[in-house]
This record gives sequence, C-alpha cells and structure tokens, in this order.
Amino acid sequence: MEFSLIDRIRERTAQGRDDVRLGIGDDAALLAVPAGQELAVAIDTLVEGVHFPQGTSAADIGWKALAVNLSDLAAMGATPAWALLALTLPHADPSFIDGLATGFAQLAQPYRLALVGGDTTRGALTLSVVVHGFVPPGKALLRSAAQVGDSVFVTGTLGDAAAGLKLVQQHANDTDARAGYLIDRLNRPAPRVAAGLALRGYANACIDISDGLLADLGHICASSKVGAEIDASLLPRSSALLDLFDDAASRDFALSGGDDYELCFTVSAQHVAAVQASLARLGCGATRIGRIVEGDRVRVRDAAGQWLEPEHRGWDHFGA
Ligand code: ADP
Ligand code: MG
Repeated sequence: MEFSLIDRIRERTAQGRDDVRLGIGDDAALLAVPAGQELAVAIDTLVEGVHFPQGTSAADIGWKALAVNLSDLAAMGATPAWALLALTLPHADPSFIDGLATGFAQLAQPYRLALVGGDTTRGALTLSVVVHGFVPPGKALLRSAAQVGDSVFVTGTLGDAAAGLKLVQQHANDTDARAGYLIDRLNRPAPRVAAGLALRGYANACIDISDGLLADLGHICASSKVGAEIDASLLPRSSALLDLFDDAASRDFALSGGDDYELCFTVSAQHVAAVQASLARLGCGATRIGRIVEGDRVRVRDAAGQWLEPEHRGWDHFGA
C-alpha cells in the first residue's frame, strides 16, 4: 500500500518505548516482553454501519477502535503496551487517515501505547486492532473465577452508549449538553484500564461490558458455573440518561445496551471496602448491583422486588 499513508499514521502515533526494538517499517515488528511478565493479547474489529454509525468522525473511529481493545486488556488487569492496526479503506483519503490516526493517538498517548505495525487494504471501512499488554504471571482477572456469595459490581454508569446510539439514529440535537454527553459515551468510550489494574488481587472474576450487562455478566456466570441476582434499582445511571429517557427505557439500556465498556466484576466480602475506596479514588467508582448465587442464570429484580421475566423482555437468550 502507498507508503505515504503509513508514514502519516506513523508520524501521529510515534511513541518512544525501549521495548520496541523495531516498529513500523519492516516486515515485522520486534518487541521485547519484560522479563517475568505474561503477554495479554486481544483483537477486535469495527465495521462501519455495524460497530459505529455511518457519519462517525474519523477521529472518533480511530479512538473507538483502540478503546474497545484497551477495554479487553482492562478486563484482564493488563498494562497496555503495543498495538497493530489493520485498516481497510474505501479510498486513500489523507485527511481521513490523519483524523483516524489523531483519534487513535489521543487515546494511545496517555498509556504510552506504541503502534508497531499493521496492514492497509482497500474495501469497506473496517478497522481491526490487536493490542498487547503485560500482566504478572497468575494475576490476570478471569471470567471463570466468580464465587458464590461474591458481590457483583460495575464501574461508572450503564446504558449511556446505547442511549447515545438511539439519539444518533433519531438525529437528535447534540447541542443539548445531555445528548452530547450520551453521544460522546458512544463515540469516545474511556476504557477502565486503571480500574482493571487496581482490581488485580481484589476482584475474583472480571469482564468488560461490550454487549450489555446481562450478556456479559452471563459470560461470567457460564465460565464460573454460577448464577447472579441483580437489583435493577441499583443500576448506576447518569443524570443525562435519566433526564432524556423514562425509567423503563433507561433501565433497559442499562441492562441490555452495549458499547459502555465499563467493567463488571465480582468481589468477595473481605475485599469490598478496599475495592470501593480504590475505585472511588480513580474517579469511576464502583457500584454494587447484586450478588453471585448458585445456579446458571442471571436474574433481575425490579424496585418492588418482583423478578423481571426474561421472556417478556426480549433478553431470554442472555440466560444460561
Ligand atoms: P508488507 O507487504 O511487508 O506487509 P506493508 O506495506 O503492508 O508491508 O507495510 C509496511 C510497514 O508498514 C509494515 O511495518 C507494517 O507493519 C506497517 N503498516 C502497514 N499498514 C499499517 C497501518 N495501517 N498502521 C500501522 N502500520 C502499518
Ligand atoms: Mg502487510
């Protein structure tokens, strides 16, 4: 592919790291994993019209392609280090490439994450990012480690991104600060990397919420061979969400909406206070929303204590 496009990406994502022996420019990158660390590796793909709406800005696309991947490292409790970017573009448009690389770099920079290579091809707009991070052996946060009796927590607030998508689809006026906030949560998710690191040694199981709380907590339950009981009245919801949507709609976004990239994790009783204090210090907070029980289903109680029936709510496929 045209080398000038790759140069534009390289210029904007440059990051001095001693562990990058050879970055963009040769047939492969050469990387040195620090002694005594395990390598955590993940890949996620964004396709225009599927994972972000048509009309999303180049910078937002570049940010989000990295954010969804850093969120996977966060959920493992890994420290981000390197990335690869496979870029498929309908046209070789330099200003679009500059925007993509700028958005990517804005998120990469505070983590000192280096883009060390990639691939560039022509086709429908698609970005695949591979991320690499470090974690001490045996310390990664797994989906499979939830214990009966654990409290279930989430970081931040839930449902904002799904509400933001709804607003984009309705061509809502994003000069309204609340609409702007929700759309920003969709386009510029903030991966909870620091929270993931703080949870190492404290959380039992952990996952990032990409497909919706019920689906992703369902993955923890399936991997850990446990069930969960959630109180809908405890779901953390932003004031923007509660202002612009009624209680039932905002609850459904919080339960089933994707793209929030918050962490959902389980904690045994002796670590609850420490986890709440350290995540409060980080600013994202941690809200207890329920507990792990024996069984194989995620069940949700409403404010009156009635179990919400999955078959009436359209998310029965999120059960075991
Ligand atoms: P090759 O044909 O040997 O794979 P390429 O022309 O695809 O060579 O890539 C040349 C160099 O540029 C490689 O180091 C590759 O990793 C890097 N590269 C290509 N596309 C991208 C991209 N979208 N982002 C970052 N690096 C890229
Ligand atoms: Mg190549």
